[in-house]
Amino acid sequence: MPLLPEGHPEKIFREDGLRLDGRKPDDLRDLRIEIGVLKNADGSAMVCHGKNRIIAGAYGPREVHPRHLAQSDTGILQVQYRMSTFSVGERKSPVPGRREKEISMVIQHALEPVLFLEQYPNSTIDIFIQVMTADGGTRCASITAAALALADMGIPMRDLVTGVAVGKVDNKPILDLADYEDKWEEGAADMPVAVMMNEKKITLLQLDGQVGIDEYERMLDLAIKGAEGVYEAQKEALRKKYTSEIVGGR
Ligand code: UDP
Repeated sequence: MPLLPEGHPEKIFREDGLRLDGRKPDDLRDLRIEIGVLKNADGSAMVCHGKNRIIAGAYGPREVHPRHLAQSDTGILQVQYRMSTFSVGERKSPVPGRREKEISMVIQHALEPVLFLEQYPNSTIDIFIQVMTADGGTRCASITAAALALADMGIPMRDLVTGVAVGKVDNKPILDLADYEDKWEEGAADMPVAVMMNEKKITLLQLDGQVGIDEYERMLDLAIKGAEGVYEAQKEALRKKYTSEIVGGR
């Protein structure tokens, strides 16, 4: 992959119409997924999406702490998304800020629809997500990782959830924005999306920037197409983990 220019680029597309990292507008970044990376979690996954490096660990269903959060008629899902101090260019404070709390909440809402929480009254499923390196689209890659951590726990699920971001730069729709594209300001928008791929149900859709109805529809189509690529990688990673277990034992 060609080297990106230092600092803020002056142009966002190359002369040949490709993006600065050599991708076409509808290309995903490289994606590598590994399941079962944490020995001490009930389920876990690592997602390397572009330069993002994200680990998710899932625990439960187990007793709720603090106890007053327990609900007698259903289980709950608790999600903690955190960025490491070394995950971004400028040292990130270890104190969780508003952004991390908001992202934890939207990830929780994106995942709840695939779980049968009503089967676990008074219990919690906890997911801890750690961003080791951030390069744009971390909430989407975190959803991709967290859904796999849940699947790795072996609890029943309606579907997987797949996260991908779309956006526009210079008024052109593009898939899977890297950090330098996310920060581009002219004709720009960013739309993180999460999809239950079997049922094609959207469980997260946020929009930062302004888009017309036509643009929105094109961006959503692009997101679903991109999510299909991520979904294939998720299924392949699960297959790899479970075939190696059958062959080699856990
Ligand atoms: N970012 C950063 N410092 C921060 C938070 C974010 O440099 O404190 C970068 C990081 O690369 C992140 C990107 O900005 O992926 C976009 O952040 P946003 O809040 O839009 O969330 P994301 O796209 O990661 O879901």
